[in-house]
Amino acid sequence: MNTLFSDRHYAKLSATTEAGISLASPTQTSSQRTYHYIGGNVKTKGYAAFDESGELRLWQFERRPVGDNDILIEIKYASICHSDIHQQKGDWGKQTYPQVPGHEIVGIVAAVGKQVTKFKVGDRAGIGCMVDSCLECDSCKTGLEQYCDTTLFTYGNPDNREPTTITQGGYSTHIVVRDHFAVHIPDNISLPEAAPLLCAGITTYSPLMKYKIKSGDKIGVVGIGGLGHLAVKIAIAKGAKVYAFTTTAEKEPEIRKLGVEEVIVVDDLRKLQPYKGKLDYMIATVPEQFAAAQYAATVKPFGYFTVVGMGKDFMLNISNIVMSYSQVNFNASLIGGIAETQEVLEFCSKTGVRPQIQLISAQQINQAWKDVIAKKARFRYVIDIATI
Ligand SMILES: [Zn+2]
Ligand SMILES: [Zn+2]
Repeated sequence: MNTLFSDRHYAKLSATTEAGISLASPTQTSSQRTYHYIGGNVKTKGYAAFDESGELRLWQFERRPVGDNDILIEIKYASICHSDIHQQKGDWGKQTYPQVPGHEIVGIVAAVGKQVTKFKVGDRAGIGCMVDSCLECDSCKTGLEQYCDTTLFTYGNPDNREPTTITQGGYSTHIVVRDHFAVHIPDNISLPEAAPLLCAGITTYSPLMKYKIKSGDKIGVVGIGGLGHLAVKIAIAKGAKVYAFTTTAEKEPEIRKLGVEEVIVVDDLRKLQPYKGKLDYMIATVPEQFAAAQYAATVKPFGYFTVVGMGKDFMLNISNIVMSYSQVNFNASLIGGIAETQEVLEFCSKTGVRPQIQLISAQQINQAWKDVIAKKARFRYVIDIATI
C-alpha cells in the first residue's frame, strides 16, 4: 500500500471523489499502486536544509490539500540549481527552516482539483521557480508572472496554506501547485532532461529570444555551468556563433563538445582584450561577483549585455568607467513567465536542445552541492526522487 498519504485520506479505487479530486489508477502510473485521494494534507518526504550549513537531511512533512485549482504531482526528478545553495545558505537573506529546495521539478500528475482543465491524471508536468501569483495584475496578464507583486516562489516564501508556513521545493516526493504554474513536458523530452529547462532553460532562453538572434551573430556566454551550457546550446540552435567564457580551465574540453566557436579561459582579465567591441550580444550566468563591465566591453558599442546569474546578497559591483568606455546597454532578467516556460520546452522539443545531465541519488545531494560550488558539475545534477 502506498504509505505517502495517511489512511484517512484514501478511498480505494473510487471514481472522481466528492471533493472533486481524482488520483491515478494503477495502470496510469508505473509500478506503484495508487489510490484515489479525497482530501487532507499530503504526506511528503524530502531533503531539507535545517540551518545555513548547506547540509540537507531527510525530512517528513505535509503539504496543503489539493484545492479546486490545484494539481498534485508525484515528483520523479528535480535538478540542482546554484540558487538552491545560495538561498539555503542564507546568501540572499534570513531563511525559515526546515526548507526543501528545488525549483526544477518534473513528475506525473497524480490528482487534479475539480476546476482543473489544463491537466489530467497521468500527464507529465513540470514546475519551475514559481507556484502562485495574483493572475490579475498587468504583469500576470501579460505572461510575466515572475514580476507580480504577489508571486510565490517555489520554496521559502511565506504561504499560510502550507502546514509548514512556507512553500517547499522539489527535492521531495510530492508537490501541490496551482495548475497555471505547471507546464506540460513534450513527449520527446525525457523527464530528467526536462527538469533543468524549468529554471536554467527559461532563464537563458527568455533574454536570448528578446535579443532576437540572427544566424551568424556572435554571442558571448559568460559562465558555463547549468545555465551557461543551455545558453550555448540555445544560441547555437538559433544559428549563432558562440564564444564561451569560463574561469575553469578543466571545463574546456566539455565546452568544446557543445559546438562553440571558441572557449576563452579567463584566468586573467587581459584575456578579454582581443574581444573588445567584437560581439553582438552577451549573456552572463555567473552566480557570484565577477568583472561584469570588463566582460560587457566585449560587446559592440550600443549592443546588449544581460546578467541572469545572481550572487551573494543579490549584489554586483560594476566598474563605472569601464562601462562608460564600452557604451554597452546593460540589463538583467529574472527567469521567464509561464507561457514562455512552455515555449522553451516546445523549442527544445523541436530543435533537439537538451541539457547535459548527471543523474544522482538523494543520498548524493550534499556532495553534489559541494561539487557545484567547486565548479565540477557537467553541467546539471538531476536527483532521482525514487531514491528518497
Ligand atoms: Zn534556478
Ligand atoms: Zn499578478
